Amino acid sequence: MAQGHSVDEYLETIYFLAFPIGEYRPLSSGSPTLSSRVAEMLGVSRASAGEMLKRLEAEGLIERGEHKEALLTESGRVRAQRVVRKHRIIERLLTDFMGYTAAEAHVHADELGDTFSDEMVERIDERLGNPERCPHGWPVDTAFEQEENRDLSALADLEPGSRATIVRLAEHDGDLLHWFYDQGLEPGAEIELQEAQPAAGQLTVKLNGDERAIGEKAAAGLFVKPTA
Ligand SMILES: [Zn+2]
Repeated sequence: MAQGHSVDEYLETIYFLAFPIGEYRPLSSGSPTLSSRVAEMLGVSRASAGEMLKRLEAEGLIERGEHKEALLTESGRVRAQRVVRKHRIIERLLTDFMGYTAAEAHVHADELGDTFSDEMVERIDERLGNPERCPHGWPVDTAFEQEENRDLSALADLEPGSRATIVRLAEHDGDLLHWFYDQGLEPGAEIELQEAQPAAGQLTVKLNGDERAIGEKAAAGLFVKPTA
């Protein structure tokens, strides 16, 4: 959908980009600009993403850094953390209470967006027994999430022969999320990277004794904890 992404959805996306999983890598000069990455993740044009980023800047939620990169301000970070936490709790309401599958939960949680006030979200959280993670493995506690980021890496960044446990699934692409579940690539699954075939844009993994090919895009959205 080209339109209709709210400020909160943008903040959610910027938050994801602001706290990279794996090593802390500042944007290098060769990296695509934030507006093009945000546009790609939300499936909107670069122009509409750029317009929205200007609005976020005017509202004091982001600011431009030394190299004109967009950074979350303190108030932007606090609001983004509240947004992602709420999203994760609502996803658990959808799976645990309403019976939706994990693959369905993300998009419905986006649709519910502003339905629940912060106070309602706290009541839901309590009723659900303070779940630790969303159905896709993202911690409800954002401080813990940021800490855990250091121990994780994208499957795409592992060396062949590595073994790892899937911890989190990228959820911004609904089709890809469904594909993960169809393939049994879910949090808790153990995989072994057999070989990477960059020329073919894919890698081969072993999952439950079966070999299967995973495209680069999917491998970049599977966040794993390497087995020591
Ligand atoms: Zn989720």
